[in-house]
Amino acid sequence: MADRNFIPVAAPTLGGNERAYVLECLDSTWISSSGRFLDAFEVAFARFCGVSHAVAVNNGTTALHLALTALGIGPGDEVIVPNLTYIASANAVTYCGAKPVFVDCEPLTLNLDPDCIEARITPRTRAILPVHLYGHPADMDRISRLAARHDLHVVEDAAEAHGATYRGRPVGSFGACATFSFYGNKIITTGEGGMVVTDDAALAARLRLYRGQGLDPQRRYIHPVVGFNYRMTNIAAAIGLAQLERIDTILAARRQVAAWYAERLAGIEGLRLLGSQPWAVPVPWLVTVLLTGGDAHERDAVMAALLADGIDSRPLFYPTHQQAPYHEETRYPVAETWSARGLNLPTFEAMTEADVAAVCASLRRAIAQYAEAFPGAPPSEVREPQARSPQAVR
Ligand SMILES: *Cc1c(COP(=O)(O)O)cnc(C)c1O
Repeated sequence: MADRNFIPVAAPTLGGNERAYVLECLDSTWISSSGRFLDAFEVAFARFCGVSHAVAVNNGTTALHLALTALGIGPGDEVIVPNLTYIASANAVTYCGAKPVFVDCEPLTLNLDPDCIEARITPRTRAILPVHLYGHPADMDRISRLAARHDLHVVEDAAEAHGATYRGRPVGSFGACATFSFYGNKIITTGEGGMVVTDDAALAARLRLYRGQGLDPQRRYIHPVVGFNYRMTNIAAAIGLAQLERIDTILAARRQVAAWYAERLAGIEGLRLLGSQPWAVPVPWLVTVLLTGGDAHERDAVMAALLADGIDSRPLFYPTHQQAPYHEETRYPVAETWSARGLNLPTFEAMTEADVAAVCASLRRAIAQYAEAFPGAPPSEVREPQARSPQAVR
């Protein structure tokens, strides 16, 4: 790290071909939404996901909106969305005029719980939108079976999970289509950017149609549908291609960081790492720890203590039904409990073992303080998950 006095939660490393490719855009003047890097990035990203089509867009939120629109999701429709996710997953459904219907998560990985889905399916349900949360794949076999039984589309939100696999198969290759984000803190970045991937050629054509103002590909200024301008620039794609060239290195470095965390945090009383399912090979997006007791007050106190040591962290996402636009009285006990007890630790390619050691030492002190400040933190009312391999080891 350059600045030894502050460890951020995320920081991209741009030490490959990023600079050379961006300069090529500038020198050639191909800076807008066509050019060789866009084509190359789409082809390479589709191959990376094991699918035949990839459509580059300007961020991960528009990727979701585009995917749902191209599948015909509209007013009156309902889409099953995990309650515990980044707000964009629900917002994309709302942009379509449709309604996100939330399901609770399971306590080991905090991914949406397939056991909770069926109760929320109604005659208006059109799709399930699983999120591979914090880089851990959702249970795609069970979700796909439920979707097939009820004739629903599946759209994977893989914004946090580039390179994760489910039973040996890459995320992004399961649903009708899948979306990714290349925001600055994601596994790979284009600054702002996103991608929709699919194996369905007709769907890919619809995605391209809606991405580019609904322009008829054969007839200039003829627009058969109301489309959007969700295009990615060649400059962003140039950065993305250079990042993708190095993704194995990036993932290996992140896995090393996660392994250092797992080693150093093992056995700290009052803390667990987010778990991992035996059928998953997750990618460490943001290493996530959960206090085994207490609530958001204790968690926030721990975060404040970390910050006082120059270490940034994030609270887990808040359950979406606790956000003003989506308020409801329904309880989602697993999401509510673990969201309040969770925090994300700095996780990025350039982290050194000394950085991780500093975070862990600070966290250890903070937890000890919190135990003193909040003696007898109430035990969880939610069952503890069976301990399995911590995600960070993978
Ligand atoms: C980051 C993220 C998005 C949105 O991506 P942006 O590129 O920031 O628009 C959507 N869903 C999830 C789960 C994310 O983490």
